[in-house]
Amino acid sequence: MEDCIFCKIADGAIPCKKAYEDSDSLAFFDINPQAPVHILVIPKIHIPSLNALDEGNIKLVSHLLMVAKDLAREHGLSKNGYRIVVNTGDAAGQTVHHIHVHLLGGRNMGWPPG
Ligand code: 5GP
Ligand code: ZN
Repeated sequence: MEDCIFCKIADGAIPCKKAYEDSDSLAFFDINPQAPVHILVIPKIHIPSLNALDEGNIKLVSHLLMVAKDLAREHGLSKNGYRIVVNTGDAAGQTVHHIHVHLLGGRNMGWPPG
């Protein structure tokens, strides 16, 4: 996707502060962090949102959650807790239309979210 900022980050055209990378996924620190730890985990392939998932993506999306869980442990969040968010669509506040898992932690979270 030529105009997708996260595809550009995934292929290295736009720099990011990497937290983790493998052949299928990339994790990087959010440019506008909403918590002391705020990392985005993305697939390297372009998937616009959860709405676009099908059976063929199940392993990939599970992998994104495993990466987020491992990063939570690595950043010392496992014991106190952390939040995983996948904003989907305009009403949820999705601004980048390349699926991404937010990992937020390091502070107490409110519920319900705004
Ligand atoms: P959304 O609102 O779509 O769930 O989340 C998009 C997130 O991407 C936002 O938290 C925003 O700060 C982050 N973001 C947008 N552009 C960039 C960028 O160029 N680099 C990084 N590291 N984060 C970005
Ligand atoms: Zn993309």
